[in-house]
Amino acid sequence: MSSIVLFGPPGAGKGTQAERIMVATGLPQVSTGDMLRAAVKAGTETGMVAKGFMESGQLVPDAVIIDLIKDRILEPDAANGVMFDGFPRTIPQAEALAGITSVTHVIAIEVPDERIVERICGRYSCAGCGSVYHDTFNPVASGGCNCGQWQEKRRADDNETTVNSRLGAYHEQTSPLADWYRSKGIFHAVNGDRAIDEITGDILVALNQ
Ligand code: ADP
Ligand code: ADP
Ligand code: ZN
Repeated sequence: MSSIVLFGPPGAGKGTQAERIMVATGLPQVSTGDMLRAAVKAGTETGMVAKGFMESGQLVPDAVIIDLIKDRILEPDAANGVMFDGFPRTIPQAEALAGITSVTHVIAIEVPDERIVERICGRYSCAGCGSVYHDTFNPVASGGCNCGQWQEKRRADDNETTVNSRLGAYHEQTSPLADWYRSKGIFHAVNGDRAIDEITGDILVALNQ
């Protein structure tokens, strides 16, 4: 089994690209952010620990995240590998991952900080299917999402104050991972400040390298 990692700051487009890459590769998306939000909603022990960190835009402790991933990777749909979105976010998480599954490609979606706030503050998704939209850059069709279950959902942490903490956490704790993966020869950077389809094309090229 071999997996890929979508890497980048909050709002870089990891979830947006995961939807598209999933269609091309068949690898299921594993988003620790989505898993944590589900845990908070369900009121599990993990959710109760994670809630405060998420609301303030800080990273949830490594041990919590690593336990979630260890369980997730045992599910049948992960047998041929997965596409990680938003994980790993620290070097200890990456070290733990290396002991769980082999990673063949780390795709870094690069977007300058000044673009991030507008991306995050305009973000919404379909509660029915999880598709990601944007007020200006990628609005849902006038009749709603084509999944037929259209219901608009916005995240509580997608506001300007929390975005700044999340960007701070990214630069301090997550961006050092880029060099860590570069030294392993599996790191591919793509310019994420372009049209969604162009970025998907570049990612598919990188996955074939
Ligand atoms: P991430 O998963 O990295 O946090 P998302 O995929 O949720 O990022 O994207 C953040 C926001 O930016 C969403 O509203 C999405 O529609 C929008 N977006 C994604 N990719 C692009 C792009 N290439 N150009 C403009 N907006 C984008
Ligand atoms: P985004 O890509 O927009 O930053 P995510 O959905 O990936 O959003 O993450 C939302 C929040 O969940 C983060 O701000 C953080 O608190 C927590 N989180 C998600 N993934 C991780 C992780 N791998 N390690 C630590 N915290 C995480
Ligand atoms: Zn939908």
